Amino acid sequence: MTEDYELVDAEGVDRDAWEEIDVSETEADRIARRRDRRFEQFQKRIRDADQFKSEGSVFDEATLAALYKLVQDGYVQAFGGPISTGKEANVYTAMGSEEVGEVAVKIYRINTSDFRHMQDYLAGDPRFEGIRNDKKSIVLAWTNKEFANLKRARRAGVRAPVPLAVERNVMVMEYLGTDGTHAPTLADARLENPQTAFEVVREYMARLYEAGLVHGDLSEYNIVVDDGELVIIDLGQAVTIHHPNSDEFLDRDCRNVAAFFARQGLDVTDAELCAFVRERAESADDDAA
Ligand code: ATP
Ligand code: MN
Repeated sequence: MTEDYELVDAEGVDRDAWEEIDVSETEADRIARRRDRRFEQFQKRIRDADQFKSEGSVFDEATLAALYKLVQDGYVQAFGGPISTGKEANVYTAMGSEEVGEVAVKIYRINTSDFRHMQDYLAGDPRFEGIRNDKKSIVLAWTNKEFANLKRARRAGVRAPVPLAVERNVMVMEYLGTDGTHAPTLADARLENPQTAFEVVREYMARLYEAGLVHGDLSEYNIVVDDGELVIIDLGQAVTIHHPNSDEFLDRDCRNVAAFFARQGLDVTDAELCAFVRERAESADDDAA
């Protein structure tokens, strides 16, 4: 394993633009309503499968329909075991299409996720104006937001999982890891070169901000080390710079990241880190003017 933490390339993103997010009825909703025989068999198979036994709450009918649709569309061939059960979502491994191979499937729970907390991140994000305030709409918007955020982050040159497909509250993305062992988070990995790792994370924070996004939950728990690459994950809560609390979120991200690297023995402060990230966007604005 190499420990160079090489930066990925950037494409350039319009900082003030944003993409539309749509949570209108999907094919998965129609499948759930139709309840045809093949879907019923699929449901039974999934509900009986060992790896989903303890996850009854995740798999309401419409979520199963979303999984069914992803299988029909070829994004998933077979489901593997759980990687993680978080506050809002469960992450599973799965076998994806022939070309892609193993994938990670993140399923946001409709019933047991903390959707009040989600509302704080959605209100004020221009991409979600006009989205209804019920649990289901919020969780669907959230899932679509993570998908859009991953695309935007990657275009900005931030190493993040490749988003492959999204259906209702289910997102399929590139699997990070090798041979059935998922990549460890920065909190669990042994860092051989913390200085280089810090510089890469700092650069990714600046690129994300320059692309008009603030992660909002960045820490050693949402950065993984995959085969010598640092990968930023969990962009569901990331907001655009237009969000009224984006400055506060950025300050908090800087505090978390600086504190982690300070514990690794580096001489870093959150003030310096924040200044580095913000300066980049300011000089980009100056260039544009
Ligand atoms: P939490 O509430 O714990 O922050 P979350 O529900 O928001 O989690 P993520 O942080 O996106 O979900 O993922 C949870 C865990 O699943 C990660 O810490 C990581 O170990 C694993 N994971 C997430 N995405 C992938 C991926 N693409 N490939 C491999 N493992 C992943
Ligand atoms: Mn996380």
